[in-house]
Amino acid sequence: MIAFRDELKAVAMPATVLLVSGITAAASHRFSSSLGMFGVFGPYTVLIIGTAIALWFNRGRAFIALVSLLVAFIAYRISLAFGQDDFPVRAVLTAAAIFVPANILLVLILPERGIVHFRNYRWLLLGLAEVLITAWIATAGHTALSGMAWHAALDNWLLRATPAPLLGRLFLVAAFIAALTRSWSQRLPLDVGMAGALIAFFIACEWPDMTVVYGVFVFAAGAMLLLAVLQESHRMAFRDELTGLPGRRALQERLVALGPSYTIAMVDVDHFKKFNDTHGHDIGDQVLKMVGARLAEVDGGGKAFRYGGEEFAVLFPDQQVEEALPHLEALRKNIEEYKMSVRTEQQRRNEARRNQDRRTMTRSAFALAHPDAPPLRSNRAELLSVTVSIGAAQRTELLDTPDVVIRSADEALYRAKGAGRNRVSV
Ligand code: GH3
Ligand code: MG
Ligand code: MG
Repeated sequence: MIAFRDELKAVAMPATVLLVSGITAAASHRFSSSLGMFGVFGPYTVLIIGTAIALWFNRGRAFIALVSLLVAFIAYRISLAFGQDDFPVRAVLTAAAIFVPANILLVLILPERGIVHFRNYRWLLLGLAEVLITAWIATAGHTALSGMAWHAALDNWLLRATPAPLLGRLFLVAAFIAALTRSWSQRLPLDVGMAGALIAFFIACEWPDMTVVYGVFVFAAGAMLLLAVLQESHRMAFRDELTGLPGRRALQERLVALGPSYTIAMVDVDHFKKFNDTHGHDIGDQVLKMVGARLAEVDGGGKAFRYGGEEFAVLFPDQQVEEALPHLEALRKNIEEYKMSVRTEQQRRNEARRNQDRRTMTRSAFALAHPDAPPLRSNRAELLSVTVSIGAAQRTELLDTPDVVIRSADEALYRAKGAGRNRVSV
């Protein structure tokens, strides 16, 4: 439920920006003079602010996308000085339609390393090369450096602009597919923003002759990226990375806004230290993810948070403890009955060795070497399960601040542990 609302928010944002831009562009002939100003200063403002914020938050992907758009837009405005129907504008539009999606495709494929990564001079070189090539082509015929050959080259079928060049469209589609794939698998706001920005940029490239439309949609692309950076930073601050649940800071924020009646439950995994020691920290993490996912499904208006380590909190705003208890009991049971299929590192290693032997040995030699080997393709993974203990408390006249209610829930949790674990106490 929480996750779904988040996804909706992530998609709603670019969709709104696109819609507003579409309406603005459609109405552009009505307010041509004021929109004309906006078509110039809007993109500059949003792209410069976006670039600065991406730099500040060290978001490498967004930074490259925003800088690419900014440079493309600067080049476009400069080239307009030569006259709108002139060759430089065409050259710059062609270059932008190719380089911007190509850069975005690259950042979508490469891992996020932040901006201050030591190999990032490569990006600087790439950007510089793109700018120089564009300048060289755009000034063809204007300076001694570049001849008229480029005029003919731009009529090449890959580069011919009708209005966007085929090569640019190919990069754009590839980048769009990459952004969608990433959005689907990782569900990060920035990937959704990238997909939205690519649509906006595509529209801009299809109406290059209308400077207002071009400006409005470049603005839209920048706005989507900027908002995505902000969304992602908010998410990083308030969401726990491992479980995807809101973290302790989000809980604190929620606690100060509560009404006069609420229940808080503290949830703690039983004997988790022993579990970690037996199966390893990685499997421990997988268990925490599983527990987090079960807690996220809590019914009865409850909201789960990762409190820290292997402890979680479930908040029931507007609920008495008796109303919350059946839902907590359902949670406890749900987690107890959940069987997690995991392969330990040792199992994985054994499997790899067996497969190697299977390839190199005869059948009888293999049977001698691995008397306990499961049949081929058996997916024998260990089934693990954990239990949790839960302590709940509600706000009363005596316990009238969230801190005190949490302490009381903690004491109830302690009683649940003392009474044998895997139970709910009040
Ligand atoms: P009890 O039933 O009394 O709660 O026993 P316990 O072992 O769960 O309690 P204890 O608080 O002693 O141990 C908590 C352990 O949780 C310690 C630590 O190794 C583990 N832990 C805390 N955070 C994480 C985490 O993010 N990942 C993993 N894998 N383990 C964690
Ligand atoms: Mg604990
Ligand atoms: Mg514990």
